[in-house]
Amino acid sequence: LLAVRGLVKSFGDLTVLHGVDLDLWPGRVHALIGPSGSGKTTVLRSLNGLEVAEQGTLTTPDWSIDLASGLSRADRARLAALSSMVFQQHHLFPHLTVLDNVIVGPTVVQRVPRQEAVERAMALLERVGLAEKAAARPSELSGGQQQRVGIVRALAMRPQMLLFDEPTSALDPELVGEVLKVVGELADDGWTMAIVTHELAFARAVADTVSFFDHGVVVEQGTPEQLFDNPQSERLQRFLRRLT
Ligand code: ATP
Repeated sequence: LLAVRGLVKSFGDLTVLHGVDLDLWPGRVHALIGPSGSGKTTVLRSLNGLEVAEQGTLTTPDWSIDLASGLSRADRARLAALSSMVFQQHHLFPHLTVLDNVIVGPTVVQRVPRQEAVERAMALLERVGLAEKAAARPSELSGGQQQRVGIVRALAMRPQMLLFDEPTSALDPELVGEVLKVVGELADDGWTMAIVTHELAFARAVADTVSFFDHGVVVEQGTPEQLFDNPQSERLQRFLRRLT
């Protein structure tokens, strides 16, 4: 579905992506793992158009974007339709109800009629067990419930893929499980997902493909079994030893 080639991105003098190659296949779950600062989040943000990489190409069966020439309006629209991002912190609007948080994107950005957006939103809230919280404010929900609303808000945009930036890292440990369960169910539903995660047990259980990042490149990519049971590079071996 999406081939990422040669992604290069700098912040000032600091080059954080040194030519990242990544294949995100439809219907699969891709886990992005690696040390802090290795560039995982920056890759997700570049796919979503939140950052603009200086070099590289993004190619789907329908279009190709050469990042060296910047993002045109049409490119931005393509990226917006391609993916939705679920952030570490859910970024819900505190003054809006759960339902209004979910429909604001579809109605304001995509011009979906309100009634249709509400029906879609309620079906999705039902899917994650939160239909009865539709009229609540975010502050009345637990952290895990807030994060599930964050996931629903991304789903409501009907993207081709979901991008998760460490969706559980801001949660208390006892709330992590409920969010990972929803992600696992979305995987069962066939959603294409890219997930930056430090939860290696989760990556092993849910991911179809794992990409190991270090210092702004993908050092190894393969199945969970290949990477976790038979790491090839010294860098991945060291990373896994530190964590187990
Ligand atoms: P973590 O697992 O800690 O989230 P990561 O692998 O996701 O790390 P990134 O967040 O992509 O890493 O960051 C890669 C590098 O880019 C880091 O050195 C970070 O400090 C730097 N960086 C990220 N965003 C910015 C920014 N807006 N301005 C300057 N430097 C940035």
